[in-house]
Amino acid sequence: MRIMVQKFGGTSLSTVQAREHVLRHVKRELEAGFSLVIVVSAMGRRGEPYATDTLLDWAAQNGNALSAREKDLLLCCGEIISATTLSSLLEHEGIPTTVLTGAQAGFVTDDNFGNARILDVRPVRVLEQLQSGRVVIVTGFQGQTENGDFTTLGRGGSDTSATALGAALHAEMVDIYTDVNGILTADPRIVEDARPLTVVSYAEICNMAHQGAKVIHPRAVEIAMQSQIPVRVRSTFADSEGTLVTHPEGFQDVQTGIVDRYVTGIAYVSNVTQITVEVPGGADRLQLKVFKTMAENSISVDFINVTPLGVVYTVFDSDSEKAIQVLQEIGLKPQSLSGCAKVSVIGGGINGVPGIMARIVESLTLADIQILQSADSNTTIWVLVKKEDMVQALRALHASFELHL
Ligand code: ADP
Ligand code: MG
Repeated sequence: MRIMVQKFGGTSLSTVQAREHVLRHVKRELEAGFSLVIVVSAMGRRGEPYATDTLLDWAAQNGNALSAREKDLLLCCGEIISATTLSSLLEHEGIPTTVLTGAQAGFVTDDNFGNARILDVRPVRVLEQLQSGRVVIVTGFQGQTENGDFTTLGRGGSDTSATALGAALHAEMVDIYTDVNGILTADPRIVEDARPLTVVSYAEICNMAHQGAKVIHPRAVEIAMQSQIPVRVRSTFADSEGTLVTHPEGFQDVQTGIVDRYVTGIAYVSNVTQITVEVPGGADRLQLKVFKTMAENSISVDFINVTPLGVVYTVFDSDSEKAIQVLQEIGLKPQSLSGCAKVSVIGGGINGVPGIMARIVESLTLADIQILQSADSNTTIWVLVKKEDMVQALRALHASFELHL
């Protein structure tokens, strides 16, 4: 059996026209001889009838008191509706299908409701159904604990369902269908001339995804990387092959002149708060106190700079009030700047290339954008800017590294 996994995201299933495109991709790969496993997300976006956010709003309007376990049970309905809808459309075309929930498809997770981690995938029933010549439709984003409770995998979880199933089934390819033409050099909603990348390494896209490029979930890439399963990110609404995600040795199989790039793309995380705790002359174990307090209160920290005179770091805006409060409670006087954005320049080969930082500083300075903080690693350079400068910063950096070419 040549197994292919196809994953269709929310916007790929939400209209009649979109679902016609889905049928087209399914028929094409069946004709090419693949045994197909289709992973679906809930249909549409907030406000549309069965979207995940619509279900969350529904719960909020009706008592707003669901426990995490019960909330997961509600959320599982979204994918069940899209899976059964697709089943009906395919059967109507004479294509035999079987719908399996995450649990029936063999996803075993821990009991961290709302953000569960996959512990194992036992796709016995998926294989049985494939062997009997049926297309298997699996509800993405969900699994089951060992004792039978439904769980969900967190935002972007259907991507993870798709690559985890691909790995468990030793699929030849996992195709992630979405509403853009692949992985682009930046979010096309912000940078209009962002360009689709023909091929990226697992490491490059994993890094971009961790830095905020939400076109694919980083966990999904990590799983594909561990099992060396090739992934394509491509558009439901077009026929182009999109972006191939593979290991760098796989690049030579792809006709492209761009693998020598040192910057791959630009990403962002908005809505973060910069916190500064300064102590003139330094103070005994101040740094330790700050980070211990953050950890004890489950506040995740990022962009950390520690100096003898104090610390500066970021938290999500949603955590900032609590962060300030707990710091004050231990006698510190933190300063905070909310409404910041972390902009990242990501590449495979930034390490040691002279002049990259100069180019970043130059293009932001020319655009009159203040850099609040910066840091770098061998694959990424981060700058913190005010949120109102974020769009301009992304466009300036994209142009400066000529990523549109
Ligand atoms: P789906 O519902 O199909 O999973 P998502 O909304 O999760 O779709 O992901 C697709 C979106 O990711 C695009 O519409 C685009 O705005 C956004 N995006 C952010 N960064 C990138 C990038 N570098 N390349 C492509 N898309 C990106
Ligand atoms: Mg997504």
